[in-house]
Amino acid sequence: MKNLIRKNVQALKPYICARQTASEGVLLDANENPRGKYNRYPDPYATEVRKAYGVPIPNVFVGNGSDEAIDLLFRVFCEPGEDEVITLDPTYGMYKVSADINNVACKSVLLGEDFQIDVEKTLAAVSPNTKLIFACSPNNPTGNLLKEKDILELCERFEGIVVLDEAYIEFADSDSMALKTGNLVALRTLSKAWGAAGLRVGFAIATEWIIEAMNKIKPPYNVNQLSQDAAKEILSGEMQIKAILDEKKRVIARLKEFGLKVFPSDANFILFKIPGASQVQKALQENGVVIRDRSGMPMLADCLRVSIGTQSQNDRFLEELEKLIKKVAFIDRDGVILFENQIDFQVDSLEKYQILPGVNEGLKKLKEAGYMLVMVSNQDGRGTDSFSEEDFLLVQNRMIEDLGIEFDEIFVCPHFAEENCDCRKPKTGMAEEFLKKTPINYDKSFVIGDRESDMEFAQNIGVRGVKAETNDIFPNPSARKRSGPRAIL
Ligand SMILES: [Zn+2]
Repeated sequence: MKNLIRKNVQALKPYICARQTASEGVLLDANENPRGKYNRYPDPYATEVRKAYGVPIPNVFVGNGSDEAIDLLFRVFCEPGEDEVITLDPTYGMYKVSADINNVACKSVLLGEDFQIDVEKTLAAVSPNTKLIFACSPNNPTGNLLKEKDILELCERFEGIVVLDEAYIEFADSDSMALKTGNLVALRTLSKAWGAAGLRVGFAIATEWIIEAMNKIKPPYNVNQLSQDAAKEILSGEMQIKAILDEKKRVIARLKEFGLKVFPSDANFILFKIPGASQVQKALQENGVVIRDRSGMPMLADCLRVSIGTQSQNDRFLEELEKLIKKVAFIDRDGVILFENQIDFQVDSLEKYQILPGVNEGLKKLKEAGYMLVMVSNQDGRGTDSFSEEDFLLVQNRMIEDLGIEFDEIFVCPHFAEENCDCRKPKTGMAEEFLKKTPINYDKSFVIGDRESDMEFAQNIGVRGVKAETNDIFPNPSARKRSGPRAIL
């Protein structure tokens, strides 16, 4: 296995720094200034920190964040311009960046179902030059633990090194896999569970010869004195976990109440799906809440990642997010807004035009209550000889004018039933684009219509259907009580 180490690193005579040979006595060996609060170079191997971390000292490397460990692993194992590594995507972006910096090819293998490792696909991507496979568990940004048996199988069948980034492992209901097998390097950090991202202290835990090689090539004093002192102190205390896990439960529950898809999380963040994710992220940021847009990553269309903060931070996030999730009233036109004659069911002239009583007031109330108004109407044969565009617009424009209320969207299917189009209600084709880009509160949104097809349309969208009797229902203030938009408000 040691032959995995690059030849030049094997042959390297490492720099022997002063504090390696002596740290006591009259220290006149390192051209330090005898005065000054931080005048001495720190312990090059952060021995006290390693002791405090509770891993056998020969098995742990301390780095300037685990990002340093990632970079060193490339330099220990990968010949630039020749070797390659595999990342299991979507995952933490730094593996690929580090590969690029080191001029090492990076092959991306997508995770499988439930963001778990597809072991066969991963191994199939291995070439004789593949030196490292990066796996992150719990994975960032998907949040899930990877299955231990898959990682062990990779370790067993892959002849290189599996780098398992366990930055978030303390939040998971699972033990670290560090030192479980000889070709596994576990990466850990003080940045997450220990609440010390500002220190930049990370660890690599592995079999001795790997740690030796990393120490051999690292910068002489990679972890500064302040960080070493603080790390030691922090490690004598408690991790910052419990409150985060409690809050995580609460935030997940709320996001689900908003009708959003939330992915299972074993970490201190949540990945969730929302239509128009990038717009949502921007709007949140404009309102002072910053979360991460991950929608550009493979498999993560429409996904955002939010870290779990304090209770009040999370409240603020949820509050701002809720404002962006629209309550939508999908409103049928004929028989609900306009009187629909029961002879040819077509409002194609001003003689047939009549706004039903109570409609104005009802629409106003919906607007005031924060509803988006979306008209969704089948107009059989609009634009054909039987129903000219002119006749349609005559009525439609007059109605818009008379209502004096702006619809946020107006969707009209112009086809006949027999054309079997995708837009005619109860199919959702008309609203598809709108639904794709608009985060909707599915609990509070509804369709109001006078036909069975409207109720099926509601079902197909995933909102409530409010059945109106034709020409009778739209909120008529004097009407007898029954379910209708007024009841919804
Ligand atoms: Zn259509």
